[in-house]
Amino acid sequence: MPQEWTNWSGSLRFTPGSVETPANEEELREIVLRAADQGRTVRVAGAGHSSTPLVETEHALVSMERFKGLASHDPERNEATVRSGLMLKEAGAIFRELNLSMANLGDVDLQSLVGAIGTGTHGTGKDLNILSSHLIGGRMVTGAGEIVPFDIEDDPELVKALRVSLGSLGIFTELRLRLLPAFKLERKEWCTHIEGCLAHLDELIEGNRNFDFYWYPRSDEAKLRTLNPPSEGMRDIPYATLQKEMRGFSHEVIPRHRDLKFDEMEYFLPREAAPECFLKVRRRVRERWRKKVAWRVLYRTVAADDYYLSAATGRESATISLHHNAGLPFWDYFKDIEPILLDYGGRPHWAKKHTRRAGELRSMYPRWDEFMALRRRMDPDGVLLNPYLRELFGE
Ligand SMILES: Cc1cc2nc3c(=O)[nH]c(=O)nc-3n(C[C@H](O)[C@H](O)[C@H](O)COP(=O)(O)OP(=O)(O)OC[C@H]3O[C@@H](n4cnc5c(N)ncnc54)[C@H](O)[C@@H]3O)c2cc1C
Repeated sequence: MPQEWTNWSGSLRFTPGSVETPANEEELREIVLRAADQGRTVRVAGAGHSSTPLVETEHALVSMERFKGLASHDPERNEATVRSGLMLKEAGAIFRELNLSMANLGDVDLQSLVGAIGTGTHGTGKDLNILSSHLIGGRMVTGAGEIVPFDIEDDPELVKALRVSLGSLGIFTELRLRLLPAFKLERKEWCTHIEGCLAHLDELIEGNRNFDFYWYPRSDEAKLRTLNPPSEGMRDIPYATLQKEMRGFSHEVIPRHRDLKFDEMEYFLPREAAPECFLKVRRRVRERWRKKVAWRVLYRTVAADDYYLSAATGRESATISLHHNAGLPFWDYFKDIEPILLDYGGRPHWAKKHTRRAGELRSMYPRWDEFMALRRRMDPDGVLLNPYLRELFGE
């Protein structure tokens, strides 16, 4: 009997009809074809770090845990092709062996590479894109049960759609990534009052390769994080106290370990609108939530891209993210703040709590209709859709 599945924070639970662990593309293809034949559906899960029900299913839940390791490597072009069951941490170690590295990472590296790509996971840095930008080719099994290779040189538009596709266009079996030569970074953590941070926000963002801050509502303190190549970026922040410093390869120092579990809502805003939006969020949190919500608000930046369903599509972005300790009720808090984020043109992170559905999302994404048309072509019977995705996409 399949066991109950829970996500990382424990806020989502379901029991799938079956758990499938295919050993190769052919077996995966058979799972998809069998489901199509029986009028059932297939969802594929990575590491369960999303907190929207993207992978929930009462039919087949596929794990790609047997698809591990490096498939090939092109040192001339800084490219590597890996199998799609790799976790980010495992991928980081493989890339390091090849003297390569991803350009950026998020806060942790416990997600699967493919899951992080599939939801538009991002780190911080004004010139740094979401992690999906690494994807330039690979192989997948579509909802129609076809094994399809794809390549940015043959079909750049398909790759732009696949980069953030929530497992709805196909199940990736291999990913070809364009990487950077491995590089080191110096990570520093600083503490200051939030007013000091906000007064210098632009200079902090512009002056560092990676910059973000956490605001702690109860103390009004901000924890700043800067990452720069050794001897570059801001060396000193006169109005902040340096608390921690470390140096290492990018995949070792960008992600850190998280002990405390939380639920989260995060929105991407136009970068120029985000500081004012943050002030409104701060005011609301102080007025209504400071006593109930002890935890922090995170502010990051992301470069613009042109991927169909990327929340950074068409605009330089800053993200505002609310964290609330796992196990505590979060909806009242998130729903009170969400309208402020929407007022400033916010787009929700696909993997974090939000209340938006097709009706509102369609107007946020200039290429929404093209994505949906492609989805219908690649998965005409909706084998890769679950009820949540049907509602999200308005299908
Ligand atoms: C502690 C923590 C820290 C986080 N930090 C950040 C952060 O810094 N920045 C950020 O942006 N987000 C962050 N997130 C969100 C996280 O990166 C995303 O939820 C990510 O999608 C999780 O990956 P996963 O492997 O758990 O995938 P899952 O949540 O299991 O799946 C995500 C999506 O990928 C699809 N998928 C999985 N495998 C395949 C496949 N083989 N082919 C096609 N589609 C597939 C799934 O169907 C689903 O739609 C964080 C989450 C947590 C819990």
